[in-house]
Amino acid sequence: MALRFPAGIRVKFRAGQYLTVRLPGGDTRNYSMANPPHQNDGALLHVRRVPGGRFSGELLDGLTKGDTLTVELPFGEFALDHDSDRPVVLVATGTGFAPVKSMVEDQIKRSGDRRLHLYWGARSREDLYLAELPGRWAEKHDWFSFTPVLSRPDPAWPGRSGYVHRAVLADHADLGSHDVYACGNPDMTAAARADFAAAGLDPDRFFCDAFVASGDAQPVAG
Ligand SMILES: Cc1cc2nc3c(=O)[nH]c(=O)nc-3n(C[C@H](O)[C@H](O)[C@H](O)COP(=O)(O)OP(=O)(O)OC[C@H]3O[C@@H](n4cnc5c(N)ncnc54)[C@H](O)[C@@H]3O)c2cc1C
Repeated sequence: MALRFPAGIRVKFRAGQYLTVRLPGGDTRNYSMANPPHQNDGALLHVRRVPGGRFSGELLDGLTKGDTLTVELPFGEFALDHDSDRPVVLVATGTGFAPVKSMVEDQIKRSGDRRLHLYWGARSREDLYLAELPGRWAEKHDWFSFTPVLSRPDPAWPGRSGYVHRAVLADHADLGSHDVYACGNPDMTAAARADFAAAGLDPDRFFCDAFVASGDAQPVAG
């Protein structure tokens, strides 16, 4: 979903950060910006439909072009550490692709060449809702690699299958020289944190955004 800030408003944020949507009654929900920081006159959100979800179902369905939402941003510490030049493994499930998209498009804009390998996990092909985009990045930039991983593939699926973080481990028996950024399903980020540490990843080089049900958060100075 695309949000446009009021005329003249641009908001500084770092690739990987999220915003908070204020719902009627004061409840809030968090969503990562999928747009890169140089496109800062609005926010692009990838919202997964949660069955019975107040925002992702009921409220989202009722929104039409021109409606107003109250949002606050930026929040979060999930952003590439530009002081590091270690190769990066990005591991995402579902709409965890949103902050990754912002990070990669930011690196493209900066003409960076740090090695980024995205493993994007989902149940089925349809759940990889923008798979052609990282495919195009990989064709165009030799610093970017893309491995889609399906946990419940159809029989004709020619690619990798199973849990996405296990695909990372199958390719990297030793993660000691890498930085890892994991986002999406909290079960995946917890398993990745534990299993990657056992594969030699320095715990300080594991960065994560778990998409837990939204809670209170404080804005981070931009
Ligand atoms: C830092 C952060 C960033 C996030 N970024 C994104 C994003 O970019 N895209 C995105 O789609 N979501 C993201 N989320 C999750 C999002 O904030 C909401 O929690 C989610 O959209 C559900 O909100 P809802 O109002 O639709 O459902 P709710 O009304 O909150 O929940 C309805 C029911 O579904 C359950 N539920 C809530 N969340 C989940 C879930 N994730 N999986 C399974 N069941 C659930 C609840 O326990 C409840 O029973 C993020 C969360 C965090 C903390």
